[in-house]
Amino acid sequence: MTRPLALVTGGARGIGRACAEALAGDGFDIMIADLAEIPPDGLEQAIAKQDGAFVYHACDISDISAHQPLVEATLQKFGRLDCLVNNAGIGAIVRGDLLDLKPENFDHILSVNLRGTVFLSQAVAKAILSSPAGHPKSIVTVTSISAEAASPERPDYCISKAGLSMWVKNLALRLAPEDIGVFEVRPGITRTAMTEGVSAKYDRLIEGGLVPAKRWGEASDVGAAVAGLASGKFAFATGSVVNVDGGLSVPKL
Ligand code: NAD
Repeated sequence: MTRPLALVTGGARGIGRACAEALAGDGFDIMIADLAEIPPDGLEQAIAKQDGAFVYHACDISDISAHQPLVEATLQKFGRLDCLVNNAGIGAIVRGDLLDLKPENFDHILSVNLRGTVFLSQAVAKAILSSPAGHPKSIVTVTSISAEAASPERPDYCISKAGLSMWVKNLALRLAPEDIGVFEVRPGITRTAMTEGVSAKYDRLIEGGLVPAKRWGEASDVGAAVAGLASGKFAFATGSVVNVDGGLSVPKL
């Protein structure tokens, strides 16, 4: 039987790569879209270890003209599209007083995290709709605890993820009658290149008890949740938000 196909944006490293590896482990073939011209060393081997076919496609998701070629390359290679993981994203270009936030930095982060992700979802949803039946269909979007929690030193990032959260709700309603499960996954403080520069700050906060689970999140924590949602077992939970944050977002007294 043909294997299902998952397209993972920003899958060259970090959380995206962990999602790709978890999905490959669950029987998916994998298409990764990321910025670099060629995939990093070891990525193909990591996916191949799980028996999955793997293709890498260089793509900047903020460039909407690059979306259709990505969809077409996926369909040409695999003949189907069953799952999209919207993972590609960037952090705030500058952390600082929001009174000094620059419009160009605001525009840049929204062009990747929100605008690029919205229109890629739109293009891929159409391809999923026209793909052969036989495997569960899903779109899983990685937002952040910052979709809900404010951080005045990086409001642009928070706004991009809050906006994306609302996109997921709308997409879930549009695609529910089509039997496509649409989910939002909100990682908390997760150890990746994105948090490298602020790791000392988060080490201190975690040590001080900020995260009930008393540890950093790992990319594999998020990968496991994403693969679970893409499995079809949660199809009727479409529109749900899954927090992968060690209890950080639970309101406490
Ligand atoms: P990362 O920087 O390690 O990886 C991000 C990947 O996305 C990279 O491979 C990068 O090249 C790619 N990417 C960036 N811009 C792109 C673009 N325009 N087009 C295509 N690919 C692009 O970061 P990560 O921590 O793995 O983050 C993955 C996702 O998880 C992001 O959406 C991020 O906002 C979210 N997230 C991360 C954390 C955390 O603590 N690390 C917490 C909450 C949410």
